[in-house]
Amino acid sequence: MIEIDRITKIYNGAPAVDAVSMLIETGTITVVVGTSGSGKTTLLRMINRLVEPTSGEVRINGEPTHAVAPHILRRRIGYAIQGNGLFPHQTVARNIAAVPRLLNWPADRISARVDELLALFGMEPGEFRGRYPQELSGGQQQRVGVARALASRPDLLLMDEPFGALDPIIRARAQHDLRQIQRKLGSTIVLVTHDMDEAILLGDRVGVMDQGRLIQYGPPQDIVARPVNGFVADMVGDAERPMRLLSLIPVGDLAEAGPAEGKALPATASLRDALSACLWSGHDAVPVERDGLGIGRVTLAAIRNRVRQQA
Ligand code: ADP
Ligand code: MG
Repeated sequence: MIEIDRITKIYNGAPAVDAVSMLIETGTITVVVGTSGSGKTTLLRMINRLVEPTSGEVRINGEPTHAVAPHILRRRIGYAIQGNGLFPHQTVARNIAAVPRLLNWPADRISARVDELLALFGMEPGEFRGRYPQELSGGQQQRVGVARALASRPDLLLMDEPFGALDPIIRARAQHDLRQIQRKLGSTIVLVTHDMDEAILLGDRVGVMDQGRLIQYGPPQDIVARPVNGFVADMVGDAERPMRLLSLIPVGDLAEAGPAEGKALPATASLRDALSACLWSGHDAVPVERDGLGIGRVTLAAIRNRVRQQA
């Protein structure tokens, strides 16, 4: 368990993080959501001591982090940042292996771990091991960045807006992957984002920050159903808008000619159903039928365009 206990950071006389306390259970995803400048990054960086708190402490399994040497702490805590931070002149395998190499794992254990992670993220090891970051799509680069942060099996993974640079559809897929992998590995993750949709989708617990304070902390259903104030209510309202609109548009409207694999959706199903079907199957399109007859497909690209029009 991770206990954040009245942690505060003062910069130039003003609190960037103001007496935040949170209990984080092992094996869960906690998402901290807030607008820019609300103190999310500072909070995250106080957990791995990249920023030293002005007051308060963080305990991991009862042990205060200030009693652990920073280099030991960094082995136990993975850190993934926006823009993935991959080394451009190193292969995918070397990028993923960065921390295990630092820890002097034997070569065969490292390569087994690399292959295991690539397979977990749906990237065929034989095909991707030797590629360079610029030879990957944005979504693949992001997955390699997350695989790297997970490589040494950290007790805790901190993620700072890891999907912020991705377009909405790729982001949805990356979020879906992260959730699957977290369930499979039982990792403990603290992720910060300005995107309430992401928080609701990924968080077992969601914390809402505003001006350095944690103003609400609970399961996502509570945040949605019982926002503590107008600020949280506004954030929840904005978050639901794109998905709500997708729920209102029938797939029949965007059906086009062309092949697609998998179980067909009726033309009356919503674009939101089509999006989940694609994310679930990993295909870029889903077949559409009307009265039992195939009428074509709906592609992720078409859904993406619709999302963009609405944004
Ligand atoms: P967020 O990640 O939510 O955008 P930050 O934690 O980066 O917010 O910043 C919170 C506040 O603290 C902001 O007002 C920011 O300007 C201030 N701040 C962050 N880091 C520093 C620093 N190193 N020195 C001075 N002020 C800082
Ligand atoms: Mg930040």
